[in-house]
Amino acid sequence: MQKILNYINGELVEPNSKKWIDNIDPATGDVYSLIPDSDSSDIDSAARAAKDAFPAWANTSNEERYRVLNKLVELIKENADELALAESIDNGKPLKLAQKVDIPRAWQNFEFFATGIMHFASESHNMQAANTINYTLRQPIGVVGCISPWNLPLYLFTWKIAPAIAAGNCVVAKPSEVTPMTAYLLSELAIKAGLPKGVLNIVHGLGHKVGDSITRNPEIKAISFTGGTKTGEAIASIAAPMFKKLSLELGGKNPNLVFADCDYKKALSTSVMSSFANQGQICLCGSRIYIEESIYEKFKEDFVAKVNKLKVGNPLDSDSNLGAVVSKDHQEKVLSYIDLAVEEGGTILTGGKKLELDGECKNGYFIAPTVIEGLDNNCRIQQEEIFGPVVTLTPFKNEEHALELANSSQYGLSSTIWTQDLNRANRIANKIDAGIVWVNCWLHRDLRTPFGGVKNSGVGREGGFEVFKFFTEPKNVCIQWS
Ligand code: NAD
Repeated sequence: MQKILNYINGELVEPNSKKWIDNIDPATGDVYSLIPDSDSSDIDSAARAAKDAFPAWANTSNEERYRVLNKLVELIKENADELALAESIDNGKPLKLAQKVDIPRAWQNFEFFATGIMHFASESHNMQAANTINYTLRQPIGVVGCISPWNLPLYLFTWKIAPAIAAGNCVVAKPSEVTPMTAYLLSELAIKAGLPKGVLNIVHGLGHKVGDSITRNPEIKAISFTGGTKTGEAIASIAAPMFKKLSLELGGKNPNLVFADCDYKKALSTSVMSSFANQGQICLCGSRIYIEESIYEKFKEDFVAKVNKLKVGNPLDSDSNLGAVVSKDHQEKVLSYIDLAVEEGGTILTGGKKLELDGECKNGYFIAPTVIEGLDNNCRIQQEEIFGPVVTLTPFKNEEHALELANSSQYGLSSTIWTQDLNRANRIANKIDAGIVWVNCWLHRDLRTPFGGVKNSGVGREGGFEVFKFFTEPKNVCIQWS
């Protein structure tokens, strides 16, 4: 059985505990590799290695860091097929999605931030009348921790570690224990790329052990976390009293507002995608669909007809639109929400059940894409994050009502607005509680833009220069001349 290894101080090593966790292929239910069951002693070693590597790495030029990271870009490109297959098997997502989105984004993250650091500049503030000038240094923080989730494994893992390393920090990183494989393959590529030892350390294992140890380790001065809101809360409660810098990218329950004057065809087909891409397991999926009353019945009928055409199948088949959800636990969680929707008075328009496929995927974790209507906006199904292939449809009367429904949520990650009236789009964009607003599109990503949420969807922004600001410490120098 293949063993995934930790990457500490430039070497691939077994966990100190010599214990292992089963890694399951969600499309078959089979154990296919073993994950290190690491603990705080592995994190201590990784943090020490990172601390030792920091002075030299922080002193390399931006151009030198760019060169090393670009080697990694080339290696990810060369190994893209293997990485995409590994991602699909580990996560259950359609292979074609991993090929088209996840793996290209992994090398793009390194390329973007390695280039970005060469354009990153700091401010100066002139006090002419006082013969004084301030300039601000932006210095790397030191050892930083990056903790990522399972839904876009390599995509989100590299989204954090690339800017951290490019900015001159050394990293102790933990991918999700549910999908560790591509982070392991990345550690092999980092060695090949000649990344100096200790600059990147990847420790695998359980959240409450490895993630918690990253949070508590006093050498780790900043934590960049993407995952659930509850986990974010736990991390903040430990890290805040230690005065660590924190970036928390958390859960969402994103509204998708469809107005009668929208480009109907585009709104319809994009809404199917924004509901069920990656089995609905993207933090940016629009799981609450609000439709203007006058087109509600038509949109509902057309939407359900389109959803019924989606094929749930073996993730490795090129005609599968949806693969497996990530784990048995997650499948059970999503199915329990579907049961709750019925208890809360919802009507299931399509889906609503697990699917048993034939052949090698017989024991895999599949769920039919599910559309529910008739739920009060305050019920749990409309308020809690399900993070699976389940969406609700709700009619609204007018713009004010749509906004009220959209904002009645503890979350505020992203939102989508479908209307041809740009005045209305701007009015709503101004007032909606979300860090990200898409108008007449979804998941268009320009990596220069600030990325993150408000309310319980998180604190801080990633992307562009925002993330370099997070991964550097500003130091102001004030000079007076006579
Ligand atoms: P999770 O919070 O369970 O786990 C995320 C990571 O945190 C994993 O690596 C896990 O091992 C680790 N972890 C768990 N407990 C920990 C602890 N006590 N201390 C430190 N680390 C710990 O989330 P998940 O189930 O992997 O991912 C799904 C969630 O992630 C959803 O809520 C989704 O919305 C969110 N998400 C948010 C974004 C965003 O950008 N805002 C992007 C993707 C996913």
